[in-house]
Amino acid sequence: MAEGILLIISGPSGVGKGTVCRRLIEVRSNLKLSVSTTTRPPRSGEKEDRDYNFTDLDRFKEMIKEGSFLEWAKVHSHYYGTRVAAVRQILSRGEDLILEIDVQGAAQIRRNTPGAVSIFLAPPSLEALEERIKGRGTEDTLRIRQRLIAAREEMQAYNLYDYVVVNDTVEQAAGLIGAILDAEKCRVSRGARPPGWGGERL
Ligand code: 5GP
Repeated sequence: MAEGILLIISGPSGVGKGTVCRRLIEVRSNLKLSVSTTTRPPRSGEKEDRDYNFTDLDRFKEMIKEGSFLEWAKVHSHYYGTRVAAVRQILSRGEDLILEIDVQGAAQIRRNTPGAVSIFLAPPSLEALEERIKGRGTEDTLRIRQRLIAAREEMQAYNLYDYVVVNDTVEQAAGLIGAILDAEKCRVSRGARPPGWGGERL
């Protein structure tokens, strides 16, 4: 059985990564969403094992020493990491896996996992991103300005990724990412063959 595809999705905060990823796993039964380990305290409504594995800093550091992470990074003063065992288990079952991770984590995976496919999710414009952040209604003016400055910096990393997908609408973005996955599965280098052929050369 062919191994599943490891799909990295990054993008500036407020671009709608979570919504697009949730839509993708709704429409593709073979696609799973990775659950990261974090030292960030749970937000209201977040559940252990569904949203994150919540842990403390000591345990997180132990896990780094034990080599438990495929990648890890410090993002906004908390630590986040992807457990290598969980990733291997899902990919070896032939299921595809989304990692919704930051730019630093994506760079580590590109170095240590050659078959991974990376996608940068971009807003239609910085003005649209500003509207989305304001639209959430949870941030004051100073916080909005800080998040927009951070978003501009995060946007600069787009050229480190294999693909850029614009999140015009959730449906369109999820459709494009699904198309990228389908195309990746047709790659000869991933083991795609004409029916009845085992890879012989004439
Ligand atoms: P939040 O705390 O809002 O859920 O996530 C904050 C940031 O951490 C987001 O940019 C998210 O993509 C990133 N993140 C979540 N899990 C991981 C992970 O396992 N590794 C890395 N490198 N970043 C992560």
